[in-house]
Amino acid sequence: MAVKELPFTQEELMKIIQEHSTPFHIYDEQAIRKNAQRLKEAFAWAPEFKEYFAVKALPNPHILKILKEEGFGADCSSLAELVLAEKVQITGENIMFTSNNTPAEEFQKARELSAIINLDDISHIEYLEEHAGIPEIISFRYNPGPLRSGGNAIIGNPEDAKYGLTKEQLFQAYEKVRDKGARRFGLHTMIISNELNPNFFIETAHMMFDLAIELREKLGIHLEFVNLGGGIGIPYRPEEEPVDLEYLGEGVRKAYEEKIRPAGLDPLKIYLECGRMVTGPYGYLVTKVLHKKDIYRQYVGVDASMSDLMRPGLYGAYHHITVIGKENWERDHVYDVTGGLCENNDKFAIERNLPLIDIGDILVIHDTGAHGHAMGFNYNGRLRHAELLLRIDGSVKMIRRAETLEDYFATLDFQDLD
Ligand SMILES: *Cc1c(COP(=O)(O)O)cnc(C)c1O
Repeated sequence: MAVKELPFTQEELMKIIQEHSTPFHIYDEQAIRKNAQRLKEAFAWAPEFKEYFAVKALPNPHILKILKEEGFGADCSSLAELVLAEKVQITGENIMFTSNNTPAEEFQKARELSAIINLDDISHIEYLEEHAGIPEIISFRYNPGPLRSGGNAIIGNPEDAKYGLTKEQLFQAYEKVRDKGARRFGLHTMIISNELNPNFFIETAHMMFDLAIELREKLGIHLEFVNLGGGIGIPYRPEEEPVDLEYLGEGVRKAYEEKIRPAGLDPLKIYLECGRMVTGPYGYLVTKVLHKKDIYRQYVGVDASMSDLMRPGLYGAYHHITVIGKENWERDHVYDVTGGLCENNDKFAIERNLPLIDIGDILVIHDTGAHGHAMGFNYNGRLRHAELLLRIDGSVKMIRRAETLEDYFATLDFQDLD
């Protein structure tokens, strides 16, 4: 079985643990930067390529700052995410506001920041006009519905998703906003998630380029950008391979050469809004074994819980686990690795083959850099833990402290109880 690497030695990790008690997430700055550069390089051919990092994946200003330095923008979908982008001075058209079911105040904030607003529904045109005004630049999210691509490969089930406009609505929508004064136009879609096959993204690019041509022919709308969304998957399992970004970039380039250039639509900017692939593989949840339990199964209880990482409980998602110091031991035990919630879903692994685990062992749970800490919640009074940044020089900086009971009780009023 392929090995999942760690960015620190056992000795280095033990030093970190001496200073920062477990559990914590730790993010590898160097790897995040290298990967960001690789993504940009793969699309260097494209006119003004931009990746808008999906803030929801890892909403920490220190991470956003790193990504900003690498030339990324921010894909926001809530007020808090807009404010986070603003805090690190990502503003204007470096923000893509791809929201759905959006309240007025969020549109207003997006307008205040001069973000690119990407509407999720045709009815939002009037809503936006009423509450925030129609901006000069506007984009729409396309939902292609029951979709077959390249003959018969079904690339997801967009017709079951709540997002986006139908094709018919899309054509009406561009006319509508043009009548209302919009002058610059974008087109967006996001129809796959955690997908490891690059061909699906290349197919999406073909579909979007065809649509760009149709919009030009039928409405005279000249798109300024096509946003291919996020959804690039990561190899959570050791036997999986990461998406070949160079192959992906080259595939989209070929589609561009084949369709956009001959149609006279060049230059058309290509945007992505990936979250998972940008930070996911470069985050690690470090946790210590508190208890072992032997009933109908063998349990290992750790000091982290679903409040730190709920993907396994929520989706049954696989996250690889390394037992520090036992990397080369035979995986001849079978354990459920659990947190302490009164909720049987609070497990990081179910019937997982692992080496013999002892109380006090340090476990590293891999690929927690996206939708990890971010999805944490406080059910059962479980607190969310700290986030650390492993910097390029090997030093460690705490970029979010652990929650305290005071944080948990902050919204309660303990006066007036009689
Ligand atoms: C979640 C989301 C993304 C990012 O998805 P990843 O799978 O993390 O790449 C991008 N755009 C929108 C609209 C999203 O909701």
